[in-house]
Formats: sequence, structure tokens, C-alpha cells
Amino acid sequence: MSFHKVLLSELKLWTSGRSRWRSRLHDGVSRSGKVSFSSCSPKVCIVGSGPAGFYTAQHLMKARQDVEVDIYERLPVPFGLVRFGVAPDHPEVKNVINTFTQTAKHSHCNFYGNVTVGKDVSVEELQQAYHAVVLSYGAEGNRSMRIPGEDLAGVYSAKDFVGWYNGLPNYQSGMSGSYYLSCETAVVLGQGNVAIDVARILLSPIDMLKTTDITQPALEALAASQVRRVLIVGRRGPMQVACTIKELREMVNLPGTKPDMLAADFDGVAQAVKDVPRPRRRLTELMLKTALEIPGEKEQARRNKASRIWGFRFFRSPIEVLADPDRNRTTAIRLAINRLEGSGEGARAVLTGEVEDVSCGLVISSIGYRSLPINGSVPFDTHKAIIPNTMGRVQQAAGLYCSGWLKTGPTGVIATTMNNSFDTARSLVEDMDSGILHVSSAKPGSQVISALLEKRGVKPVTFSDWEKIDHVEVRRGEAVGKPREKLLSVEEMLQVAQR
Ligand code: FAD
Repeated sequence: MSFHKVLLSELKLWTSGRSRWRSRLHDGVSRSGKVSFSSCSPKVCIVGSGPAGFYTAQHLMKARQDVEVDIYERLPVPFGLVRFGVAPDHPEVKNVINTFTQTAKHSHCNFYGNVTVGKDVSVEELQQAYHAVVLSYGAEGNRSMRIPGEDLAGVYSAKDFVGWYNGLPNYQSGMSGSYYLSCETAVVLGQGNVAIDVARILLSPIDMLKTTDITQPALEALAASQVRRVLIVGRRGPMQVACTIKELREMVNLPGTKPDMLAADFDGVAQAVKDVPRPRRRLTELMLKTALEIPGEKEQARRNKASRIWGFRFFRSPIEVLADPDRNRTTAIRLAINRLEGSGEGARAVLTGEVEDVSCGLVISSIGYRSLPINGSVPFDTHKAIIPNTMGRVQQAAGLYCSGWLKTGPTGVIATTMNNSFDTARSLVEDMDSGILHVSSAKPGSQVISALLEKRGVKPVTFSDWEKIDHVEVRRGEAVGKPREKLLSVEEMLQVAQR
């Protein structure tokens, strides 16, 4: 029997049942209450409901009024890193959720949360059921430091730490929940915006955090934290930091903190900065001012009152995390001291042979997220950790597309992700219009996939189910003066969704 026939026979088996859900779907009404559009409309499914998934869906439905889009998401809740990555004290960034909600409520769009593609349903099954499949499942892995001591207690990835304070399920209990905040110094490895987010959250006055959507357990742990000093370490120099000026400015102005930089790290920078493009120049000038200028009276008074310290440490690469004699807890990090070869963005860090040990009880590595392959049948470039593609068309895989961090690698802000997702949607529409992608024969879309999921005991969460979760979270938040109090486990989310 062909694969397609298996799917159809499973659909028949499923539709012969008696449940209300089944008969509603049989009548062409999905569980979300939306009328199934048309059996012969082009059917596209998107894997992942982060910015890439939603922006791809938005552009597709704008460009082709006949297209039906189904979004499959691993978690019961949508929005990817907008919910689980963006810092709690950046609520304005999360406003994109309003646009995503409009997209999800479009009559040609359906959301199926709590469905892990690659486990509950395969990419091949999706390809059989839809005319096109767009993979937008982000970058859920970590780049590891590959140094001795990396597995010690007290060493975490930024992904773990961010997931913890943002309420990502499975990042809440056990070791990953009990961060080593009882030490005085924390070292953050990496100098991008995520590293700055981590440093800021570690040092923010608790009064600033308690009105955000940071989770209650994280808030309590941070309120009891002993961390007073955060060093943000990079292997190259001030002219190569990867953060942006907004994030640096927030750090410079963070109440209750003062900067601590090494003047020698800035040798020659004032001269070199004159020749660089404006964004890099402004960023470097702010660093120079913070590090070298004698502060004015007001700023000096502010610094005198500060009880917490932050600082960049440049030209240093981690080589080992050191432990106490029992070898179960981080006590220091050994850093190799580098010099730069070349200049500008392309400058290379070269070891000098000197090392330095920095005492610390907490090490958070923020050296990048990494996409993971979904299964053997989907091309994956393990070196670049992306799906090889041409303008979002997966190479050598007709009908398969990709967008977001999975397409480009884990760089850029939401606006960058938006642009690359629109590009993917454009490629897909071009292929439909030109006939490269055949959409004239009918495909079963979600009907057949819902049947498979039901048979496998998977209960998808619809967008209106998510709105029940949203409602509960917002209500719980109101009670404690926060925009929301997030549910912290998949089980609790499902309980609320299925009420
Ligand atoms: P994601 O947002 O990761 O979405 C991927 C989705 O796919 C997730 O919902 C995931 O659950 C789902 N998924 C994964 N595997 C599967 C599977 N097998 N089946 C089904 N679904 C799956 N940008 C800004 O503009 N401003 C900021 O302040 C900002 N802060 C950030 C802070 C952090 C810590 C990080 C890491 C990033 C931040 N960004 C920020 C960048 C922004 O979050 C990204 O540009 C954007 O989220 C990338 O979108 P994406 O859809 O490719 O990936």
C-alpha cells in the first residue's frame, strides 16, 4: 500500500468514530471552530510558531487569498522566543504578539500546539498531506564551549538560564532550576545581546523585575541572590563586541550598578573608532566614555551609591572551569589572554600563552544557539547548523521550505527574522504561481494529520485553547501586579487548555 493510501485509510478509520470532535472535523469544521476552507485550495503547513512561523504565514495569506495555512508547534503555547527568549523587562518587544494573534485568527489559519514534528508526526507525513511544508523550528540547541569543567555545577548555558527565568517548561526543576546565585561573582562568556540580557537580569534591582512577566520562582531566587559582580567576557576587543547600543545603554544606566572596565583594553580604540560605520562608532564611543571618562558629579554620586558591579573583559577565551577540591562546584574560570591579529570585524584572536584565573561561582556561556536536524530525510548542514537553502527553498527537496533562525543561523533580531520569513513566503508563492509547485491536485491537509495524531494519543492545542491559558496567566499576573504569571509545565498548560 502506498504511503498516501495509508494516510487516507487512517482518515476513514478515524472519521467513522463517534466523538464530537471527529464529527465536527468530518463536517469540515476544525476544532478551533473555523470552517475548513476548500479541499482544493493550496495547503501549506508551517513547523514552529515563533516569529518565523507567524511571519511566513502572514505573508503567504496576504499574497495568496486561496491558501490555507496550518501551524504545528511543539509546545502548547505559541510565539517561540518572543515568549521564552526576549527579556521580561523588554515588554515593548513582545508587542509583535498582537500581529501574530491576528494571523492566527485569520480564517485560513489554524494553530496546532502540543505537536512535536519529528516525534508525533514526521516531516514525510506532513509532506504527503500538504502541498508545501515550511520548517521554522528555530535553534533549540546550544553551542558548547568544549572545555574541561563545562559540566560542573555552577556552569550553565544562556539558553538554560534564559529559559529558566522566562518559564520554559523542562527548564524549571532540578539542577537547572537551582542556579548558583549564592556566589559573589558571575562570569558571562560572550558579548552579544543575550549575554547583556543575562548580566542585566542578574544585576537588576528586584523592584524593576517584579512588575515584569519573569516567573515567580526566578524572582524569588534573584531576590535572594548574592551575585554582586558580573564580568562579560569576550575573546576579541571593544571594536568587535556583538551587542547593540540599546542593550549597552541599558547596562550603563542600570540603577544600583557601576561599571568596572580595564583601561588597557581600550588602547588605540579612540583612534580606530573614527573610521568605522556609524552604529559601531556610537556603540564604541559609549563604551569608551563609560570606561575612561571621569564621570560628572551626578554620575559619580550614582556610582558611589552602587552596590553591584558589571564590566567587560576583553581579549580572553575560556580554557577551563575550575572546581573546589570535592570537584562538585565551580570556583573559578581559567581564561587565556589573547591579542588581536588584523582589525575591524574580521580581526582574529590569537593566544599569547598567558592565562588568568578569575574567581567565580557561576559561569553562564552565551556563545550562541544552534539549530538541530529534525530527521535524516531533511537536508542539514551540520557545519553551519542550518538547513541548506536558496531563498528559503530547501536544496534538493521539492515542496520543502525553511525560514527564521533555522534558515539563517541564530543571528539577528525579530525584524531580521521577519524579512527572511517574508522572503521564504515569496519564494513559495512564486513556485505556486509558476507551477514549479503543483497545487492543482487536492491534498487532505490537517484532516489526515489530525487523524494520525488522534490515533497516536496526541491532543493538539488550538489557538482558542491557548487563549484560555493566556487568560489564566493574565489573571494570575493581575493578582501580583505583573502582566502575566506564566504556567510553568506542559501538564498545567494542557489541563487549562482542555478545561
Ligand atoms: P523561535 O522563536 O525559536 O521559534 C521556533 C519555534 O519552533 C518555537 O516555538 C519552538 O517551540 C518550535 N519548535 C521547535 N521544534 C519543534 C518541532 N520539532 N515541532 C514543532 N515545533 C517546534 N529579538 C528582538 O528583536 N528583540 C529582543 O529583545 C530579542 N531578545 C532575544 C533574547 C534571547 C535570549 C534570544 C535567544 C533571542 C532574542 N531575540 C530578540 C531574537 C528573536 O527571538 C529571534 O530573532 C526569533 O525568535 C527567531 O525566530 P524563529 O521563529 O526562527 O525561532
